[in-house]
Amino acid sequence: MSKLVVANWKMNGSIDLVDEFAKTFTADNLILGLPTIFLSPFRNRNSILKLAAQDCSMFQGFGAHTGEISARMLRESGIEYVILGHSERRSISNLDSTENILQKLSNAMDAGLSSILCIDENFDQLIDEKTTDLLRNSLGKVILAFEPVSAIGTGIVPNLSDIRETVSKIKEKCDGINTLYGGSVNSINAREIMDIPEIDGVLVGGASLKIPELTAILQASSPAV
Ligand code: PEP
Repeated sequence: MSKLVVANWKMNGSIDLVDEFAKTFTADNLILGLPTIFLSPFRNRNSILKLAAQDCSMFQGFGAHTGEISARMLRESGIEYVILGHSERRSISNLDSTENILQKLSNAMDAGLSSILCIDENFDQLIDEKTTDLLRNSLGKVILAFEPVSAIGTGIVPNLSDIRETVSKIKEKCDGINTLYGGSVNSINAREIMDIPEIDGVLVGGASLKIPELTAILQASSPAV
């Protein structure tokens, strides 16, 4: 079975790139995380691919929250997934506290959105008893993404045995929940990362903006024949 590939465009891309990707990709193990403004244009051009927003509001439903987009609005627009707690929001820009992330996770679950929850080496801070209960009750609607901060956008991937050890610890703590690896995944290293048995897929930033790179990563996500 193919492993999951989540692409995170971050604040990149253009309508031209949306066009090209919409014509190129239909894989059912690919989830494309686009800037919110591009989600509907993409959906209008390609009804097959699974789409992810890169965040949702900590406020629920509707209300006087200028600039916010709720989980419910995303779901009503045909979006299936939301990436939550990315380290670029959590620590670097300080946009997301642990409390906010958990509120967003709960909002996403209430709205019927699946979440890709990013965690790093300090996962114990986020994955406490309350969170494990939330994950246990999420009925498969949450996927974790282990993203060591030192690996995001740096081209430096930790030792494969270190990745394996940490992902095993995470899965042990969270009842075997599906867990991705993220951080400098590209067409060259995708296969060896995907070959780690405990890893259920990858979260790809920079390399996901290039069609040949993403195509090669998708190829690496299928078992070698
Ligand atoms: C990311 O955005 O989550 C990420 C892993 O980025 P990159 O692949 O560029 O390191």
